[in-house]
Amino acid sequence: MRTTAMLVDHDVLIDAGTGVGDLTLAELSQIDHIFLTHSHLDHTASIPFLVDTVGAMRSKPVIVHALPETIEVLREHIFNWKVWPDFTVIPDPEHPFLAYAPIQQGETVSVKRRRFMALPANHTVPAIGYAVSGEAGATLVFTGDTTNNDALWPIVNRMRDLRFLIIETAFCNREEGLARASKHLCPQMLAEELVKLERDAEIFITHLKPGEIELTMQEIEEDAGEFRPRMLQNGQVFEL
Ligand SMILES: [Zn+2]
Ligand SMILES: [Zn+2]
Repeated sequence: MRTTAMLVDHDVLIDAGTGVGDLTLAELSQIDHIFLTHSHLDHTASIPFLVDTVGAMRSKPVIVHALPETIEVLREHIFNWKVWPDFTVIPDPEHPFLAYAPIQQGETVSVKRRRFMALPANHTVPAIGYAVSGEAGATLVFTGDTTNNDALWPIVNRMRDLRFLIIETAFCNREEGLARASKHLCPQMLAEELVKLERDAEIFITHLKPGEIELTMQEIEEDAGEFRPRMLQNGQVFEL
């Protein structure tokens, strides 16, 4: 089982769940930026090990871009010297292994000609999604963890170069109550969201609950089949 992490080229991660464990040490050492959607462990679990493992191999800090609320959680609950050392002052505050860069919803950060725009998400903790635009002029939207999210679609519908939409569906329809309580989506809710999309895009489903993957994908086919959603695969590559 692997949790959310997307590598953009060789140097940027979006979220840092356990999927980061698929990367080699050489690959890990090249990651300069991590854009986080929110503080939940399935999206942040690999940051402590990543920073500790590659810090001494690098000449500059790994920069974690996230909402101020998310950064506060990392500071208070992970890099607090009790769970893990505060790598923003290791080996010294002038040359740390880790640095934080607050980002606000609506803001765009450019990293070597790729643009990362923070999108609204509707989750149990402060959360964002990202629109990633590459040099070739295509845009990928990654919703992050979110339940019904009316704020997202007008923004996505303005993206003339939208090519890919990666959207979560964490639960099967039987667990709709849990999906609503934990602010995720189930297939019926996904279908309600996708009718708000007014652009063509290749749609990929992520965050499927282990043990319910086949059932959930089958329900997605029944409820939202006209949008041709496919399951996001481990190691899947997108060209932007
Ligand atoms: Zn979450
Ligand atoms: Zn999650």
